[in-house]
Amino acid sequence: MEFAVSEKTKVILEMVREFMDKEIYPLEPYFVVKPFKAMWPEINRCREMVKKMELWAPQVPRELGGMGLSLVEHALMAEELGRSPLGYLVFGCQAPDAGNIEILGKYATPEQRQRYLLPLVRGQIRSCFSMSEPEFAGSNPTELGTTAVLEGGQWVVNGHKWFSSSADGAAFAVVMAITDPDASVYQRASMIIVPTDTPGFNLVRNISVLGHAGDDYHSHGEILYRDCRVPAENLLGPRGHGFIIAQERLGPGRIHHCMRWIGICNRCFEMMCRRASERKVGKGKTLADKQIIQEWVAESRAEILASRLMVLYAAWKIETEGLHAAREEVSLIKFYVAPVMLRVIDRAIQVHGGLGVTDDTILSFFYRMERGARIYDGPDEVHKVVVARRLLRDVAPAR
Ligand SMILES: Cc1cc2nc3c(=O)[nH]c(=O)nc-3n(C[C@H](O)[C@H](O)[C@H](O)COP(=O)(O)OP(=O)(O)OC[C@H]3O[C@@H](n4cnc5c(N)ncnc54)[C@H](O)[C@@H]3O)c2cc1C
Repeated sequence: MEFAVSEKTKVILEMVREFMDKEIYPLEPYFVVKPFKAMWPEINRCREMVKKMELWAPQVPRELGGMGLSLVEHALMAEELGRSPLGYLVFGCQAPDAGNIEILGKYATPEQRQRYLLPLVRGQIRSCFSMSEPEFAGSNPTELGTTAVLEGGQWVVNGHKWFSSSADGAAFAVVMAITDPDASVYQRASMIIVPTDTPGFNLVRNISVLGHAGDDYHSHGEILYRDCRVPAENLLGPRGHGFIIAQERLGPGRIHHCMRWIGICNRCFEMMCRRASERKVGKGKTLADKQIIQEWVAESRAEILASRLMVLYAAWKIETEGLHAAREEVSLIKFYVAPVMLRVIDRAIQVHGGLGVTDDTILSFFYRMERGARIYDGPDEVHKVVVARRLLRDVAPAR
């Protein structure tokens, strides 16, 4: 393992830290209480500055207009960006666009590249990924009710999707649909690009999540596709490769989330320590003098460090041996880091007392928004089963 931080990366991290302090954290009080749509002028202003500093799209190859960082370098930058819910978005590496850039980068035809990929990389448009359905278990994406039938040179898409994050205001959706119902279970579905202004694309609602429906980028859409017709050329990748492409998309998506979660952990941990040190609880004592708080601090520190090393190791392994070789590590970090993050957020809220559950700090936002981390991109339980099965299958004989 090689985790030494190069001089180039140190400079990048310093620039990012300074930018976050000066431009991003001051936006948070507005972002937490205002409709998200109202934030775009500020976000776009910040994005222009980021582009001028050549810090735009860390994960995107240089030939497409990004920084072309290695995954380990991106992980280090993501730790800084993840500290604010706006970080990834302002620097052009936000889900679900990053995942769609990944698969479009691999499979887009020249026309799809011009119309969807390049404007997406530049941040001129947004996208969503439409796979999960209320009627079928999302943890097994071979089961889908949405169909796409080829009729007169057009795909006719019909189906019911939900949790298509950021569908509100997106220019297009990448829709996973059954195109070949008689094929084997892993070859029945395909990916189809559906512009959101296509007749038959109906955004039913932004789903209320823990009391907040959100809006615009910051939302999860329920969508009805009703005889939604798009040209046959909107097929993304080979027909019948929907399941494979979904897996290719989710792999990097998982590590990008985990990298971001380390940033959330660090931010909440620092807030917890600061509050514990400042909050007086009588007789000149602060919360930091209490053993039970000291235990939370020590445990959080150990858990965050373990998570961070696991994430960097997974990033390093993907880089040196490929995603397939690192699939166990990716599952490990997905089910390990999410609960660590939630525990750290929860402890930080507890230390803040009543203030912790108000929207006067960012903690309650993290608490609301990140509970889903243990569910999306594969629930904890599925990743645990996958890892355990493989380990038990490969048990070495007794020596
Ligand atoms: C915040 C958020 C954002 C999302 N964004 C998107 C998006 O952009 N696009 C998209 O298509 N989808 C998205 N999703 C949907 C997500 O992918 C699914 O919720 C997820 O795959 C789980 O599917 P499900 O909700 O149908 O749960 P189910 O599949 O019904 O599972 C329910 C629970 O059962 C347990 N379980 C499931 N399988 C097993 C197993 N094999 N062994 C043991 N226990 C098991 C787990 O505890 C799981 O949480 C998002 C979800 C959330 C919460």
